[in-house]
Amino acid sequence: MTYDVFIVGGGPSGATAATDLARAGHKVALLDRSGRIKPCGGAIPPRAIADFDIPMSQVVAQITTARMISPTGRAVDIPIENGFVGMVDREHFDEFLRERAAEHGAERLTGTFLRIERDKDGTHVVWRDKVSKDERRSLTKLVIGADGARSNVARAEVPGGDKIPYVIAYHEIIKAPPANDQYNPDRCDVIYDGRISPDFYGWVFPHGKSCSVGMGTEKPEADLKAATADLRAMSGLTGCETIRREGAPIPLHPMDRWDNGRDVVLAGDAAGVVAPSSGEGIYYAMVGGRVAATAAQAALASGKPKDLALARKLFMREHKTVFKVLRSMQDAYYKSDDRRERFVSLCHDIDVQRLTFEAYMNKKLVAARPMAHLRIGVKNLLHLSGLVRPNFT
Ligand SMILES: Cc1cc2nc3c(=O)[nH]c(=O)nc-3n(C[C@H](O)[C@H](O)[C@H](O)COP(=O)(O)OP(=O)(O)OC[C@H]3O[C@@H](n4cnc5c(N)ncnc54)[C@H](O)[C@@H]3O)c2cc1C
Repeated sequence: MTYDVFIVGGGPSGATAATDLARAGHKVALLDRSGRIKPCGGAIPPRAIADFDIPMSQVVAQITTARMISPTGRAVDIPIENGFVGMVDREHFDEFLRERAAEHGAERLTGTFLRIERDKDGTHVVWRDKVSKDERRSLTKLVIGADGARSNVARAEVPGGDKIPYVIAYHEIIKAPPANDQYNPDRCDVIYDGRISPDFYGWVFPHGKSCSVGMGTEKPEADLKAATADLRAMSGLTGCETIRREGAPIPLHPMDRWDNGRDVVLAGDAAGVVAPSSGEGIYYAMVGGRVAATAAQAALASGKPKDLALARKLFMREHKTVFKVLRSMQDAYYKSDDRRERFVSLCHDIDVQRLTFEAYMNKKLVAARPMAHLRIGVKNLLHLSGLVRPNFT
């Protein structure tokens, strides 16, 4: 049996690639090791729901306000106009995506990727079957590496795959309390406070019956569990039952190459594609899966491996500017409590609120408001130079 495309990893990127390729009539394998729920806050924008036909049955909560909290405890509530941020539970969401790929004709395989081998017959993916424990060798024309952060496929096959910088994120899934003065099931809290994270942020993301409370940091010496305990205490969530404790890396820099110029292309976290500043990865992983599937189809049709480079090209054409802006925001504002205080103060500005949320919800920087861009640029400069004080009025 020869596959057109063998996909390693059945998260949002791999399952999306599998659905697109199977839908287009290709012979596709989707390998996932299964048995572990991906640690994730599960927040997705409306653009993800629309672009990838996510049914509302997967959305366990609809968030209508984002609260930004500064180091001095000041809060700025940003109403989410014209829509909501959707919350998905990865335990069910990923399985839904994998099943959808299978319904379109992808073959689901359960086991662990071991390596890629090449001989006179072509390219083989070697993997261990979860049930029989046997080593299997699957012949394929192309491979999509969608095996997440610290991807084994990326490390082995694509230059730079072993050098992606990461934030380590840790969260606790807790039983959600009833709504009260501090906890609102329709509101996401984002905490910018050096005591919780010295270089990223902490969060409280409601998920209906449960809630994700966590933080991320690039600093290996940080005590993630202690910071999360502090965050729970300051959010009035210490007494809630803890359902799961888990952590995982979030890659924060898209790789310069996503393919090996031969027979492998990467997608999603495996290619380092998570938005800086926010750590948002689900939507971008799904886009990554889609562009990897497009590139694979182009390479299969032309017989030219160089067409695999189309994946990165298509992605960057659409998202490079937003990633650049988010990267500079993180570099400028996440480095000290003074900067964090200024950042939250800036969020008070209605233009900043509109622009950042339009960018998050619809994945576009809006070109139609040049004066707003100008005003924000000036305010940014004033804050970064320290010429104005943080202002919450
Ligand atoms: C704590 C935390 C909170 C986050 N919160 C959010 C959020 O609120 N919103 C958001 O948009 N993003 C969030 N992210 C980021 C988001 O989870 C990822 O960007 C996204 O899951 C990437 O999807 P992916 O398909 O590329 O990789 P993954 O979701 O990691 O999927 C990879 C798949 O590959 C499989 N796999 C890995 N290795 C092998 C192997 N050797 N053999 C077989 N299978 C293998 C795994 O089982 C997994 O199913 C968060 C991340 C973390 C860690």
